[in-house]
Formats: sequence, C-alpha cells, structure tokens
Amino acid sequence: MLDLKKLDLVTIRNSLRKGDFTSEELVGSYIDRINNSKKLNTYNTLNIENAINLAKESDKRILKKNYRPMEGIPIGIKDLFCTKGVKTTASSKMLENFTPTYESTITEKLFYQGMILIGKLSNDEFAMGSSNETSYLGPVLNPWKKETSDQYLVPGGSSGGSAAAVSASLCPVATATDTGGSIRQPASFTGTVGLKPTYGRCSRWGIVAFASSLDQAGPITKTVADSAAMLTHMAGYDEKDSTSSTAKNENYEEAIGGSLKGKTIGIPHEFERLDISLDIQNNWESAIQWYKDAGVNIKSIKLPHSKYALPAYYIIAPAEASSNLARYDGVKYGSRVEGEVLDDLYKKTRGAGFGEEVKRRIMMGTYVLSAGYYDAYYLKAQKVRRLIHQDFVDAFGSVDAILTPTTPTTAFEIGENVSDPLKMYSNDILTVPVNLAGLPAISIPSGLDKDGIPMGMQLITKHFDENSLFQFGSIIEMSRSDMFQPKDWWMN
Ligand code: GLN
Repeated sequence: MLDLKKLDLVTIRNSLRKGDFTSEELVGSYIDRINNSKKLNTYNTLNIENAINLAKESDKRILKKNYRPMEGIPIGIKDLFCTKGVKTTASSKMLENFTPTYESTITEKLFYQGMILIGKLSNDEFAMGSSNETSYLGPVLNPWKKETSDQYLVPGGSSGGSAAAVSASLCPVATATDTGGSIRQPASFTGTVGLKPTYGRCSRWGIVAFASSLDQAGPITKTVADSAAMLTHMAGYDEKDSTSSTAKNENYEEAIGGSLKGKTIGIPHEFERLDISLDIQNNWESAIQWYKDAGVNIKSIKLPHSKYALPAYYIIAPAEASSNLARYDGVKYGSRVEGEVLDDLYKKTRGAGFGEEVKRRIMMGTYVLSAGYYDAYYLKAQKVRRLIHQDFVDAFGSVDAILTPTTPTTAFEIGENVSDPLKMYSNDILTVPVNLAGLPAISIPSGLDKDGIPMGMQLITKHFDENSLFQFGSIIEMSRSDMFQPKDWWMN
C-alpha cells in the first residue's frame, strides 16, 4: 500500500511517469483507505470497478509513453457535477435516483486529460450551507479534531465532502463549487487549498444550479501548485454556458515562483473591525509580516459597501435558487410522490424531496421576488452588489492583491450552529463579497489555532488574475510553520 498522506497531485503525476508506482496500485490504495474511513462520510457514491479498469488503461498508456497531462490520477467529484452513468444527487433526497445521461463540461475536460473518477463527494443539500450538515445522507466529519476535546467538528460547506476527502487523503484532489464561499470556507476548516476562479472562468454546464450569477467551479487540493495544475485543465470557454468567459486560458503552474518585490497587498480596513477570533487575527498579522519579508508593500484599503454583502447575498442567492429549483416538481426532474391531482403531486414531491434549509431558501427567494417586495429587496440588493463590485475595482487601482482571513472562526462543532441560521450565515462574511463581485480568490492553510485546528488566509485579485493568486499564495505556503496533516483517528 502506498503512503497516500505523502502524495499530492504534482508528486503523483511525476511518480506515475517515472514508474515509481502504477495507477492501478494508486487507485487500489485510495479505495482501501476510503473503505477504512467510512466514519467521515465523505463519499456519497463510489466508482470502484470503473476506476480500476481506467487505471489499467492509463498504465498501458504510460508504459507506451503515450500519456495525457493528467493520466491515471484519481479525483473525487462534488456530487453536484453531473457524471454520465454515475449517480448525481446534490446530496438531496430529491435526486437520490438521478443518474445523468450526460457529463458536465468540467468533468468531461478532466477525464479527457486522463483523470479517473473515484467517487462522488458529499455536500450540503443543493450546495446550501456552511457545515455539510444538510446532506440527506448525514453530516460529513472534519478529519481534524481539537487537541483538547473529542467532539466532532464540521468540515465546512457546502463542499465539505471534497475538503474532508482531500484533507484525509481519500483522493489527491477534488472538484467543488463556490457560490458564497463553499470552496474557500471548507478548505480553511480542513487545512486544504481552495480556489474560486473568476466568475465565468470555468464552465457551469452540467453542474446542478444553485444561484447562477454566483456559482463557480474550482478545485480543492493539498498545495498551491496542485491548484494551479487543476485550474489549467478546468478553465476555458464553453459554448454551452452563456456566461462562460472567452478570456485566454493559461498554464497556471508556470506562474508560481518569481519575485514579488515591489508589489502591493491591500488590507481592507472594514474587515479589521469584524468579529474575528483572536487566533485568526494574530495569524493575519503573521501573514502580513511574511509578505513584508518578501519585499511586498502593505496598504490599508477601503471596501465601504462590504458590510452590506451578507444581506445582499442572502437575498440574491435565494432569489436565484427559488427559480432554479422550480424544475424539481416530480415531472421534469426529481423523485415523484404521486398525488390526487397535479398540484397535489407538486406539493407532495417538493415537500418530501427537499430538506429544511432548501425549503427556507426557496421561501426567502420567492418572497423577495414577489410583486410587492421585488423593488424593496431584490432590486435594492442588485444595486448594492454593483457598489460592492465598484469598491473592489477602485481598490485594485492601487493594490495587486487583497489579504483577509477566509473565515471569522475555525471549524465549529457538529450541531453547534444548525438551529441558528443567522449564525450559520455569518460564517460567510469574508467570502461572499468576492462572489458578488465575480472575483477570483484562494484560501491557503496558514497556521493552527490554539486548539491545533487549521486556519486559512484568503487572497483576492483582479478579475482573471488567478496567476497572481498562485504567486502570492505560495508565500503563505512557504512561510507557515505548521504541518497540515490530520491524525488518522477515524480509521478502522
Ligand atoms: N454558505 C453559503 C450558503 O449557504 C455559500 C454556499 C455556496 O457557496 N454554495 O449559501
């Protein structure tokens, strides 16, 4: 068996080509570790037989030196990406029997480059949540535990399965989606790297929609270099997605390294006043020092409208969700519950298929879109969104990147926030402004708090400047002193 904890994507890619181990051995080792890690509840569906067969094919190609860029590398896919012939549930009872007949653009691209689907990863139902506790298949556990307590922690959400699986070495990399923080927040909670690319950089086609003007796919990985390698193969124009960007795609791995001397990082004045835990504030200070040491200038900036980001997000996202989720009626999509008449069928289907949080979002969304409230809430929120966007554009006139923590606290306990939606939503305070502005951002493990669990720093750059995210990001990776490897307490 291979020691998977030592393997990141770039190492695997090199080792496979050198013949240090085969893809079949690698896939076998992951399957074994996954089978011994059931307790974490990361995977909704496994793809074992297919994965082994594909690994054998990859090994033949590697032997003939006829390999593709990502040949034979296993990947976990968030259960929100449609995978042809493999169940795709969005972690909802509504889609428990849905097996797509088509492949999402992102998974198609990754498989085309030689990656191997090992399984589908849990998430909050329809990607709504910050703790991965709303999946109909039960919560995912964070592989990290406090040194002082035996309580289970949440892995964050909505991409909690993806983040926990990468953190626990149950796959080397995973895909995820980020509408208001769902890649970066779980990455921060699990000591992994989470990248939300610029809106439109990665195709949304074939991803179960939550809030279409905010949704963006990205990778969760162990390292910054892996994140860059993944983006290289995920990004690109797609004619099937009307909001897909035609911006030039690059080889992002080449961006890493190089001097940052003379560049400037902005620290948002308003964020310094937020209720952020002391450990995270200190970690933020340390990160600022790491950049100073690298010759980077530090500048205080203003994002005056960011304080309205959370309320604006929790109007816009539910509004779009209520419209997107109208299709699950038991006729077009969704597990049908029969009724006396058509209306009855709709009600029973939607009543049984959706969980509490999803219903709450649909009700909020239809409320803010209803005739009497549209102008007061939805239209107002759209105007605020424009102002938030403008704040960032103004700030990037004088800085190359913005540095903030990813979350106000580290991972909280399972059950701690579920009964208090507002408390749960406040977790997204540092991530949602980025989605509203359509900007790229990355969360990078930056230290452990006093209880020994991970903290993450967020870097934000201009639209389509992911290259700078990787460049600035590698400074944090090189400067931090903690190791980001959870102990295997959950193993059988
Ligand atoms: N936590 C946020 C929400 O519940 C973000 C979710 C996401 O990015 N998919 O809406």
